[in-house]
Amino acid sequence: MFYRSGLPRLSPVLRFTAFVAAPALCLAVALVLFGTWSLWATANQVDESIRARQADDVHLALGAVLDDLAQSQAGVAIWDPAYAEVQKARPDAEWLDKNVGVWLNYVFNHELDIIIDGQDRPVYAMRNGERVSPAIFARVQPTLLPLIQAARGSLHRPANTHERLPGQKLAPNTTVRTSPAAFHATDLVEVSGRAAAASVMRMIPDSKLVVGAPGRQPMLVSIRFLDGKLMGDLGRIRGIRDARILSTPAVMKAGMFSVPLRSSQGVLLGHLGWRPDMPGRDILRSIAKRGGAAAAALIVLLAALVFVVGRLMFRDARSIGALEAARVELQAKEARAQYLANHDVLTSLPNRAAFNRFVDGAAGNMAQHALGVLLIDLDKFKHVNDTLGHLAGDQLIQSVAGRLSAQLPKGGLLARLGGDEFAICLTEGLGPEALRALAEACLSELRNPFPILGSEVQIGGSIGIAVGTPRSADRTELLRKADIAMYSVKASGRDGYRFFTAEMDESLANRRELEDDLRKALSARKQLFVAYQPKMDATGTTVVGLEALVRWDHPAKGLLTPDLFIPIAEEAGLIHALGSWVLAEACRVSKKWPELTMAVNVSPVQFKAGDFAAAVRSLVQRCGVHPRQIELEVTEGILLDDGEEVRAALHDLRDAGFRIALDDFGTGYSSLSYLKQFKVDRIKIDKSFIKRVGRDQEAIAIVQAVIALGHAMNLSVTAEGVETSEQGSLLRTAGCNELQGYLFSKALREEELSVGINGIPNLPITGRWAS
Ligand code: C2E
Ligand code: CA
Ligand code: CA
Repeated sequence: MFYRSGLPRLSPVLRFTAFVAAPALCLAVALVLFGTWSLWATANQVDESIRARQADDVHLALGAVLDDLAQSQAGVAIWDPAYAEVQKARPDAEWLDKNVGVWLNYVFNHELDIIIDGQDRPVYAMRNGERVSPAIFARVQPTLLPLIQAARGSLHRPANTHERLPGQKLAPNTTVRTSPAAFHATDLVEVSGRAAAASVMRMIPDSKLVVGAPGRQPMLVSIRFLDGKLMGDLGRIRGIRDARILSTPAVMKAGMFSVPLRSSQGVLLGHLGWRPDMPGRDILRSIAKRGGAAAAALIVLLAALVFVVGRLMFRDARSIGALEAARVELQAKEARAQYLANHDVLTSLPNRAAFNRFVDGAAGNMAQHALGVLLIDLDKFKHVNDTLGHLAGDQLIQSVAGRLSAQLPKGGLLARLGGDEFAICLTEGLGPEALRALAEACLSELRNPFPILGSEVQIGGSIGIAVGTPRSADRTELLRKADIAMYSVKASGRDGYRFFTAEMDESLANRRELEDDLRKALSARKQLFVAYQPKMDATGTTVVGLEALVRWDHPAKGLLTPDLFIPIAEEAGLIHALGSWVLAEACRVSKKWPELTMAVNVSPVQFKAGDFAAAVRSLVQRCGVHPRQIELEVTEGILLDDGEEVRAALHDLRDAGFRIALDDFGTGYSSLSYLKQFKVDRIKIDKSFIKRVGRDQEAIAIVQAVIALGHAMNLSVTAEGVETSEQGSLLRTAGCNELQGYLFSKALREEELSVGINGIPNLPITGRWAS
């Protein structure tokens, strides 16, 4: 089975959107965003680390400027001739120009060099390669004083990494490159509003140990401004582009970056700004140019993928749709089959299988409930079917189903078991009174005329009732009992109801036994014999024919009349063999009495065998008897079934020379209409009518009418069951052609038929009719 999940089913478009298109779009957007972000982050990280490295370079470069400054000073500050010269009361300025100023200004790019004596009085000064008045010292003195004092050892502070201070340890990680004899304070300072590297170094001889108080030596003061040439060097040597000194921090937006410039004492001197290298951003920019193409390619790829998946999905959806449709159809067929398996198509009532299941289920619960079954068989249904057609029959069955349903008590089940047989199963209301009331209600519904195809149809029903007790609740048993009860109603004239009784069972057992015995008797060809009852002419003096009547001399039950065992033979299918045997016997005897007709009774069941006419013809021919001598007695029963075939068989037999008599005339359904349909030669007025003749006036009137009708149709009329001479004379007067009955003779054994004059039996006729 497919799709049993509780989720609501989505249309293919929604499913495609939800499971393919939307995720693909999200994926694409996420990929692009993530790609962009990670590129951007990487680029930033690269740029930041480059910036950090350049900032380090800047600091290193500044440190190197300070260290270079001090190292360049040491070349002249620790040198005997220079020391000797500045110790003089009037130092030679020209000598100092040549050996100190020009050297430092030109070779080492100092911008200002000043020599001061032990009392801080300026002795010599050179600026940008030009000797200037030592008074220039006054301009720089205020900012340089802390350096001078530190170098003299009069100001105590820890040395920075570029200094050697008297009485102070070298700073950890110092980069100082001067000799240990040197003392100098070296730092970044602001001079005349400009950031500068400044160094103040004690001037001492290099040949002998320095004497005198350390603070009282002459000092060389050197300054190199950070702006100007130094910035150019930064770009050229260190690769720091556009380096410049700024008064405020650089704005990164403008593509500039800066680090603060501070003295080692933390005094802010300005900012060193430059245009940092940003390879990350460059890469990002160049990727961005190609990124569009990459993203477009990605989107095209995804779109193609989505398209392919979509097509597959829609194809799937189509085939799933087809499968689903097939499943639905199958389910419908299953449901239909299920329905058909349990219902009768014509009435929509439960069928026999469903009824059986219901009864079985109820029988399983017998501890709680008793169980009752009413078996309802319609009377005269066949007749309706035959006279009005199958359509009418179907309509009648449907109407009956409707009427019975209306009578069904709560909790009961009404089923059509088949044909004209219905059944009700009850689990409640099983008291005899309730059951009787239900049966009567059903019967009265069935007796009410049914309007069918424009005519009113009168039927009835035979109902058998069986009630199961908790000890005997087997379904088969219950149905068997209801069936027996129903048949007992039918046997006693139909249209009624009966409860099953033990006696019925007994009679059924007897029936079974009798059937067995009959089968044995037939195959052994003993116990059975045929008796012959004479038929007289109207005067009652001459025998004109014989009627063959079968007898059974049962070893235990004595002589049995055919009324007792013919129905059993019919039901058990033994009637064909029995009938043939009787016919053969009759033929054999008939040969002895060629002047007499031999009447043989034929059961409707025999007639129903397809080859009946042919079989009779060939049997009679084999016996060597002319068919004209044989008269077949049929009842209206045969005419009720399969009109066409019976008509054909009758026709066939009459053509062959057999005569046909309609037996028991007057007891059937609509005798006169049949007479028109089926050609016969004779009618035999039933003995129940004859019995009344002489007793009530009406009876003779009916008989007279029947005789007149028969004669009008060119039929010979026989009266059977004539017992009194009064009946005999009344019937003769009425015009009856033949008389038969105990008045003349009962059926005689073959050997009792003795030959009289002219081949007419000299019969021991008992109550011979006085003529
Ligand atoms: P049926 O054809 O109407 O036969 C006449 C029955 O009435 C016979 O009963 C006969 O003995 C009886 N009967 C004759 N005269 C009188 C009378 O004056 N008064 C009274 N009350 N009865 C009289 P039986 O022999 O018991 O046969 C009963 C029925 O069994 C027959 O009725 C016939 O339909 C059937 N039957 C008899 N033999 C055969 C047979 O070989 N084949 C078939 N299919 N049916 C047979
Ligand atoms: Ca008869
Ligand atoms: Ca009869």
